[in-house]
Amino acid sequence: MIIDAHCDVLWKLWENPERSFFNSSDLQVNFEKWMRSPVKVQCFAIFVPETVAGAAQFDVALEMVQLFKERIIDPYKEIVWVKNQEDILSLAPNERGAVLTLEGCHPISDQISRLKTLIQLGVRAVGLTWNQGNAVADGVGESRGAGLTDFGKEVVYYLNQERIWTDVSHVSYKGFWDAIQLAEYPMASHSNAYAVAPHPRNLDDAQLRALIEKRAFIGVTYVTEFLNLSLEAFRKDVVRHMKHIINLGGENSLGFGSDFDGTDKVVTGLEDYTDYESFISQMVTTHFKGETVKKVCYENFIRTFPRKI
Ligand SMILES: [Zn+2]
Repeated sequence: MIIDAHCDVLWKLWENPERSFFNSSDLQVNFEKWMRSPVKVQCFAIFVPETVAGAAQFDVALEMVQLFKERIIDPYKEIVWVKNQEDILSLAPNERGAVLTLEGCHPISDQISRLKTLIQLGVRAVGLTWNQGNAVADGVGESRGAGLTDFGKEVVYYLNQERIWTDVSHVSYKGFWDAIQLAEYPMASHSNAYAVAPHPRNLDDAQLRALIEKRAFIGVTYVTEFLNLSLEAFRKDVVRHMKHIINLGGENSLGFGSDFDGTDKVVTGLEDYTDYESFISQMVTTHFKGETVKKVCYENFIRTFPRKI
């Protein structure tokens, strides 16, 4: 069993409505592949691209909620929309869970009511930023490098109150430290170790330790340049990041956040859902003991899911 904390299929479906979630071969995550894979629960991110004009961004976020329901949940009796820890624990053996998340607060602008709406609609993890700055904080790509705004603090307080994950992947360095101080339920859905691959999207040891101290979920991601800064990455690169995080004490935090369908460059041998089974059975079980494999594959995600019922 595997839980994957991040993919961008919703964006792919929105970008090209011709794509079929059932079996489009250019989707790394589709229904057919999912049913053949060991993935039990998948998080689906609402990601509104920068090309969408400011005023329309919230509308597009709502369109993606609707896409999630109409294209992923409703057509398949096997797929269950999971909104809390109990929902995951209650999945029948033949069922798979789908979690709705938000990648970046730019679609809410500076309106807390929009955040409230998205949570009401089922969003269970909220990324503070994508790479650019927004009304909440700066992202890693914003040279100003500012931390949380007053509105950003309001956002995190609301997420705490509602027991929703505050996702720090993509946020600026200062934004990370502001968030980690305030967030009761921090997580990094798809980030790797800076000490292994010094990319601004990765987390340095101090950041990883801070997440580990808070017993927060950390999802290693299969984006080639976050694995080894080059154009080609392999399964062993993913394992290097996993080992580093475990060596820092992250055995109870580590998990997966693939970023499938969010990146063009794929890891050789971990190209889509169909490779998960052999990746786990050949690589992960070779390098980690059985108890650790279970924690990384699914237990850490389930235990840290803030919304219990
Ligand atoms: Zn991302």
